[in-house]
Amino acid sequence: MLVNDIKIIGGGSAGWMTAATLISQFPDKKITLVESPNISTVGVGESTLGHINTWLALLGIEDEDFMPHCDASYKLSIGFENFYRKDSGQFHYPFGSPYTQENIADLNDWYFKKFLYPDTPVSDYAECLFPQMALVNKNRIFKNDNQDLPLFSFKRDVAYHMDATKFGLWLKDHYCIPRGVSHVKSEVKFTKVNNDVGIEYIVLDNDKKIKADLFVDCTGFSAILIDKALNEPFESFKDVLPNNSAWATRIPYKNKKKELVSYTNCTAIDNGWVWNVPLWSRIGSGYVYSDRYVSDDDALLQFQKHIKKGDELEYKKIKMRIGIHKNTWVKNVCAIGLSAGFIEPLESNGLYSVHEFLFKLVRTLQREHVSQWDKDVYNSATKTEFLSFMEFVAFHFALSHRDDTEYWRDVMNRQYSKNLVEHIPSWASGFVTNTFDKMRGYSFYNSGGIHCIATGMHWFPTDFPSIKSLNYEADIDYWKSKWQLPINNMNERKNKWSQISKKAPKLLDVLKTIHS
Ligand code: FAD
Repeated sequence: MLVNDIKIIGGGSAGWMTAATLISQFPDKKITLVESPNISTVGVGESTLGHINTWLALLGIEDEDFMPHCDASYKLSIGFENFYRKDSGQFHYPFGSPYTQENIADLNDWYFKKFLYPDTPVSDYAECLFPQMALVNKNRIFKNDNQDLPLFSFKRDVAYHMDATKFGLWLKDHYCIPRGVSHVKSEVKFTKVNNDVGIEYIVLDNDKKIKADLFVDCTGFSAILIDKALNEPFESFKDVLPNNSAWATRIPYKNKKKELVSYTNCTAIDNGWVWNVPLWSRIGSGYVYSDRYVSDDDALLQFQKHIKKGDELEYKKIKMRIGIHKNTWVKNVCAIGLSAGFIEPLESNGLYSVHEFLFKLVRTLQREHVSQWDKDVYNSATKTEFLSFMEFVAFHFALSHRDDTEYWRDVMNRQYSKNLVEHIPSWASGFVTNTFDKMRGYSFYNSGGIHCIATGMHWFPTDFPSIKSLNYEADIDYWKSKWQLPINNMNERKNKWSQISKKAPKLLDVLKTIHS
């Protein structure tokens, strides 16, 4: 099929990110975005991942362009609280690369510290390996790559907290429309399906009929094209991930200096977890839970108790469709955003999936014609990436040992599918690699953030029995003499990074210059 006329249906952040990407890469194609003026977008105060920087660079968007309009702040890490046990405290998964240059055994030096000094808290892991944890702890940030803080790259390792709805509106007004995207405010009332091409035409609520070479379904959870019109099967993740609902709210700052931190915090509570996303003017917060264990009303009470707020705030209830369509590109419909699928909000994967799918869509459209082969490869690549991220999110639940409520006991006793635990899928990541790394390799490899989560959840690859099984000289004094020097080095580095970070400007001051 030839793709010159592209109609995007839906004007949430996925819709406008799609329009912006397509007009930036294909200025000669006809790009139109149709959105209902009556159906609201999701927009809860989103937390993003560092990968968004490559997408922003593709579009030539700078921080100073969008941040002042989207209530945006900087994010260096994700904190997890009480996921392992009810009162197990907090650990971090910072962005960027772990510093292991002078280590004896790559990431694994720290585990020797832990078994020789068992009182070492798991929060120490990220502090010993990630230079920028010192910035997180001091609530400061370097806007330039700082040579004294090794491996830290501002452009690569810093993500954003932002209001995704405002981001969509900014893209519309400042990027898409000035570059020639047509904008139609109307609701889709009818879709004419044709078994050969997919969608033959769409009828809008003003009775206008529209056609396109390619329709991009960005209609959120309602997925009116890929799901309602084409009936593409939806593969639910309910057997792997427990949550399907959320309450979201906006919390005003009481003490902005203290509360505006450079990380998203996720706290596990009775029937799920609560996010805390500090934006420039307010905190976005929400409770992600399962309505199979708690009613929506009781979930709201649990949320209010946790954030110590009541009816003075407004709360929005959201029902989430967790899973992904079997194929997200079917005939002449390609779904991007919540219409394609959603994992759940943990690990900030929503907007990540949008820009990663868009990279693949752009690559597929490069040759103008799109064959069935092209679509199959797109489907396989996007699905693989999505499932691998889903495994990563599932890992946070699978490693939990909480047993204080029925929800957490069921999470702990859940039987994960054989696919996740026993087989090695072609992408070989997530559960499977880590199961093998821990149980057979006795060490973790430096891939993604899985090792941070595993360590925070006390799932250590290297421990005394593993060393004993590999070595006869497994006497604790022998290991102390062998490991004391690397442990001292690790401690010294942590202190040095802490000193260096004192020189960094305060996060609030840096943000003030952007928002002034
Ligand atoms: P929506 O925002 O729902 O937009 C749908 C659009 O389709 C709207 O414009 C609507 O008007 C239009 N539409 C619907 N039906 C019709 C119709 N019949 N005719 C015309 N138009 C129609 N992502 C992150 O990256 N980080 C996070 O921290 C994060 N947290 C989240 C928390 C929750 C509880 C949820 C549910 C999501 C979260 N996400 C997060 C995901 C993120 O919010 C979405 O990926 C993102 O907002 C994109 O949404 P969307 O554009 O696909 O859908």
